[in-house]
Amino acid sequence: MSNRILSGPLAPGATIGILGGGQLGRMLALAAARLGFKTHIYSNVADACAFQVSDAHTLARFDDERALEAFAGACALATFEFENVPDATAKFLATHVPVAPNARALAAAQDRLVEKHFLTGLGIATAPFVGVSDVGEASEAVIALGTPVVIKTRRMGYDGKGQAVARTPFDAPAAFESLHSVPAIAEAFVDFEFECSIIAARGRDGAFAAYDPPKNEHENHILRRSTVPAPLSPARVKDAFAIARHIAEALDYVGVLAVELFVAKGGTLLVNEIAPRVHNSGHWTIEACVTSQFTQHVRAIAGWPLGDPARHSDAVMENIIGAEADNWLSLAAKPAGLHLYGKREARPGRKMGHVTRLKRG
Ligand code: AMP
Repeated sequence: MSNRILSGPLAPGATIGILGGGQLGRMLALAAARLGFKTHIYSNVADACAFQVSDAHTLARFDDERALEAFAGACALATFEFENVPDATAKFLATHVPVAPNARALAAAQDRLVEKHFLTGLGIATAPFVGVSDVGEASEAVIALGTPVVIKTRRMGYDGKGQAVARTPFDAPAAFESLHSVPAIAEAFVDFEFECSIIAARGRDGAFAAYDPPKNEHENHILRRSTVPAPLSPARVKDAFAIARHIAEALDYVGVLAVELFVAKGGTLLVNEIAPRVHNSGHWTIEACVTSQFTQHVRAIAGWPLGDPARHSDAVMENIIGAEADNWLSLAAKPAGLHLYGKREARPGRKMGHVTRLKRG
């Protein structure tokens, strides 16, 4: 069966299906509602926080074809809020309902080695890397790349999970084994000045829009803070937009995508990874921009004109992580946009909400 295609702009009242039920799905559902759409969340997590704000939901495994088919039948269009949907699921779904972004974009972002080859194939700079599939290759990687190296599992890594650093050649085998010896990629450690990201959107008509890049700071591998604007020259911002556009066009991408970048000493931009979805480092767009990244994604996939990404304020977004959410009352007393995701259990490292403070001059 061939992939289903959206025949024209989706009219308000239609149902948009979202695979994944975390906070990104929750904020997408809220944005879709604002434009008059209904949402149907598909998740394999019983108390997925996006269920609370959607019109309908399906709780099923991602390989449950009957559940997927029923979900597709209930939606005019489907999208993703996380990229680790099995390839087979994305392909199966695409034969039953128009899907954006496409399965190719998911595949390119799911496997770090495929992703890096895709990027370098486009002539886009990344940290030097090699594939690693056994301890011998882990040792050879350190010889090829120098130390330190970051060894990352090719699949299913996020928020620093599935990563280990080898600081000397002798550490490499243990670092690889600490990741349970699954297929991995070794990357040269980038001595970056700071990290930033491009949140961009591509419409069904090929229109492209990007937000001003935030500077991103991580703690314990989890995004702590995004500050916009990042200290980048207009020329560098233009370069970063061009990188994001190149990637989006090469993938025939529809929707919002994020490109995470290292700004190396001297200002060189290196792509760390692509996220084929709305992104944590774009949450500030809700308060600080004419069109939030969530609304923008809905507009793009629905075949509507892209919204204006213009930023009217400087902003700082901070995540509320784990037990920090217990301070909801003092967080609520601050003059900032407060978002709580409705998650029951404040496990350590879990993203429970975020706050965005606007800085007006
Ligand atoms: P990732 O899961 O690839 O986004 O990595 C999470 C974080 O680890 C990044 O945002 C960086 O702070 C750090 N990191 C990842 N890869 C490298 C690298 N090659 N060099 C230096 N830091 C890295």
